[in-house]
Amino acid sequence: MADYKSCSIFNVVRLPSRYINYYNPLINTMNDFSALNRTSLIQQLSQQKFDVLVIGGGITGAGIALDAATRGLRVALVEKLDFAWGTSSRSTKLIHGGLRYLKQFEVKLVREVGIERAVVYRNARHIVTPEKMLLPIIDGGSLGKTLSSIGLWIYDYLAHVDKDERRRMCDKTETQQLEPLLRTDILKAGGLYYEYRTDDARLTIETMKTAVANGATCLNYAEVTDFVLENDKLVGVKVNDKLGTNGTFEIRATYIVNAAGPWVDTLRNIDPEGVHGKRLHLTKGVHIVVPREKLPLQQSVYFDTQDKRMCFAIPRFGVTYIGTTDTNYTGDTNRPVATLNDVEYILNATNYMFPSVNLQVSDVISTWAGLRPLIHQDGKSPSELSRKDEIFISDAGLISIAGGKLTGYRKMAERVVTLICKKMNINKPCLTVNLTLTGGEFDSQEDFDKFINLRAGEVKDINVSAQHINLLAHRYGTNLNAIIEKAYDLAPTLKDPIERIEAAEVWYAVHFEMVNNLCDYIVRRTGRLYFERPSIEALLPIWTKHLAAALGWNDTQTAQALAEFEREYAEVVSFAQQPITQ
Ligand code: FAD
Repeated sequence: MADYKSCSIFNVVRLPSRYINYYNPLINTMNDFSALNRTSLIQQLSQQKFDVLVIGGGITGAGIALDAATRGLRVALVEKLDFAWGTSSRSTKLIHGGLRYLKQFEVKLVREVGIERAVVYRNARHIVTPEKMLLPIIDGGSLGKTLSSIGLWIYDYLAHVDKDERRRMCDKTETQQLEPLLRTDILKAGGLYYEYRTDDARLTIETMKTAVANGATCLNYAEVTDFVLENDKLVGVKVNDKLGTNGTFEIRATYIVNAAGPWVDTLRNIDPEGVHGKRLHLTKGVHIVVPREKLPLQQSVYFDTQDKRMCFAIPRFGVTYIGTTDTNYTGDTNRPVATLNDVEYILNATNYMFPSVNLQVSDVISTWAGLRPLIHQDGKSPSELSRKDEIFISDAGLISIAGGKLTGYRKMAERVVTLICKKMNINKPCLTVNLTLTGGEFDSQEDFDKFINLRAGEVKDINVSAQHINLLAHRYGTNLNAIIEKAYDLAPTLKDPIERIEAAEVWYAVHFEMVNNLCDYIVRRTGRLYFERPSIEALLPIWTKHLAAALGWNDTQTAQALAEFEREYAEVVSFAQQPITQ
């Protein structure tokens, strides 16, 4: 294992110790979040009694595990597939206040998530990036010039946005200069304001890793199939090891939190009380990805659609992604996919606002579809449903949380854990507001940029490009150090520089991020399936070889992992073969 204290045969310039320090707790807890330690983790889960057991490894569950662990509670979390496999890897990937909710007078919600934007950014600068957003104001659009100006002002005011980042209204000429691809005939003006861009799956993983570093025991591919009751109260859960090696086991806990996103009601249905009162209302949201050169925007744009909705178009590395749809969903929750209808809706909306680009179905290189776990309100359409979170507690003691947004995950967790602390009759304050997530130990954006430049300058002797270091830094922050050290360690045996850095990243993913298969790695740890699809073909053999070696796969297991990935790959790229209607 790479260790900063051991001297590499290459004379690598070491980082200032403040960057190194944070790595140490992770080294100490490495076994706790390594895919190779599964059997021992299952033993721990089945032998200890926990204060809190969280069901669901999306952002909501990860946030609750982190909050509870940092308040000193004994915490376990189980996820039925991979961490962030559900909605938390399929969002618009924005840390935002939700400008459009102002139209629905959801002032409290906009205020809370607006303030949380800055908290999430401060605590995880490596995966949260400030993003200028252009709001074109058009004839017949959802808001006129004055209302947009007032709306954006209120938006900034509610979120306590710094003076130099507040919204700026632009006239038609300036708006056209800012984004020359916008249609001009109906354009009246524009508003420029700030949001933040993230990688939702990585935000979930970094939150989970920080929970583990603070003592939580978290396991993926572990599905809760039933509850254990004593005297009509929940005292534990039955869990199925989905990787098949450890069968079924029980976990005992005083408080059980159902943070299963779109599956919250499925779990409520196995609680003796069933689904009572409020219930979930699932809506599907689809995004499409096109090569950057097909929609070469100057910055992100939040634009009106012809049917009075709003869509984001967001440039990211070599691509631009666009979304989202919002339609009622009653299909298979385990397999939401983009249909040709969804793709054409987004293409039509984009071509309407940016007519010269004339995007075609054949330009779409990737898609993803996610389910919003919203709370049903009679008579409301998908877009009108509130994004507020709510907590339900059953008679047997199941604490379910639904609704909410990625951006507000920390506050949602605070509410759940404060409730549990009250029930436990203990007074432990929430500590997460100033808690940096693993990899995010930077005081400022300049500090982060300095770190990237320093590392990029150092690794020339192992032939890693500055561009690749930049990409890895935005994925792993200071934990990039461990990957680089590993690459140095591999240098004597792996001569090809591309294979070397890829092998080092795979090593990190298995040992520090509980990667169990190709899909975990390519879809949720690296986001490559969505954002770097063209790179996959060349690199797949390298990833497969090193994952197989790290996880000890035989030929059959390797073939199975490849087949699973190919299935997932086909699903995101071959939407045209999906049924036209839901
Ligand atoms: P999930 O991420 O779905 O996690 C629940 C987990 O529970 C799943 O991984 C599932 O496998 C697991 N699970 C289920 N059953 C069991 C079981 N029996 N045992 C063990 N585990 C189980 N929010 C924003 O702030 N910004 C955005 O830009 C944004 N865009 C969005 C765009 C779309 C299209 C959608 C759909 C949502 C968007 N959201 C956004 C909302 C945000 O993504 C969700 O609120 C959030 O990801 C929900 O997280 P979750 O953890 O509650 O659910």
